[in-house]
Amino acid sequence: MKEAMLYEKGKDGVAACSLCNHRCHIKPGKRGVCRVRENRDGTLYSLTYERPVSMAVDPIEKKPLFNFHPGTRVFSLATAGCNLTCSFCQNWTLSQADPGDIGSRQVTAEKVAELVESEGCAGIAYTYSEPTIFFEYAYDIARLVHEKGLYNVFVTNGYMTVDAVQAIAPYLDAANVDLKSIRPAFYKERCGAPKGPDAVLASIREMREHDVHVEVTNLVVPGLNDSDDDLRELCEAVAAIDAGIAIHFSRFHPDYKLRDRQATPSGTLERAQAIAKDAGLRYIYVGNVPGSDGENTYCPACGGLLIKRYGFTIISDAVSRTGVCPECGEAIEIMGERNG
Ligand code: SF4
Ligand code: SF4
Ligand SMILES: [Zn+2]
Repeated sequence: MKEAMLYEKGKDGVAACSLCNHRCHIKPGKRGVCRVRENRDGTLYSLTYERPVSMAVDPIEKKPLFNFHPGTRVFSLATAGCNLTCSFCQNWTLSQADPGDIGSRQVTAEKVAELVESEGCAGIAYTYSEPTIFFEYAYDIARLVHEKGLYNVFVTNGYMTVDAVQAIAPYLDAANVDLKSIRPAFYKERCGAPKGPDAVLASIREMREHDVHVEVTNLVVPGLNDSDDDLRELCEAVAAIDAGIAIHFSRFHPDYKLRDRQATPSGTLERAQAIAKDAGLRYIYVGNVPGSDGENTYCPACGGLLIKRYGFTIISDAVSRTGVCPECGEAIEIMGERNG
């Protein structure tokens, strides 16, 4: 247990948490919406500090981040819990778990930073569940990882406050932010997030202002967020922040409470790609469809193939070392050299 960051002690021992946009007011003996921050006698504690439930090594492409250190290995870490309750969550066994109900072990921030290095990783991703709700742990690891010259990545729902973005920004190199829909009702009804897309867009904007590399994932769920208008308005909102933000349209597979829906048809993902292009976005990808052209990076100016992928594997890479298109010289928004 660790005392929480980003909260204030109020009247009658109530703790006001400002880590995410739920902004819970937590009475003594109670927990916040995320179930992992508890008020004990007026002091707010993080129950997930140094309690990971999952540690693994992944390709950075799996996060997904395609324009950030392509081809590198990334150490991936999660704790239990999430501040949202998405009905389509594909990691619900972790995200919806109470920290007391799921097996975790104690691993110090120092030990994690050592593991990142000893596993030959170029950095670490705080992922699988939601890094916001293990913020103190991620923050302490992130500082140590930076001291080693390695990178930090958040894979996040973006529902954190601007204050939280500002606190982690000095140590955060990149983020993949889920933008689940452009409709407030979707966030409210499907995700338990009443502040909706505006809160997520504010996080993305704040990250870009701090020069954090951002890519966006939109899980396209048939019948829920896949209309032309929904997709167009979502793409335009991202492009208005920065047209160089890569967008990943991810194929939905029936899961958790949404098992009665079909997987996203290929035609829908192709339609989303065309809409994103019309909105001016420069890097448009398709996820969960191995072998699709949507896995490759193309030059936004001349259309030349820059990085060819199959699934999470890089087949060829003509851009990471130079950062420019070899055909036309266009500057490509891609960070980091490919290692190996
Ligand atoms: S992180 Fe969010 S959900 Fe959890 S206690 Fe703080 S404001 Fe509430
Ligand atoms: S934000 Fe992500 S981890 Fe949390 S419930 Fe939604 S899909 Fe699951
Ligand atoms: Zn080009």
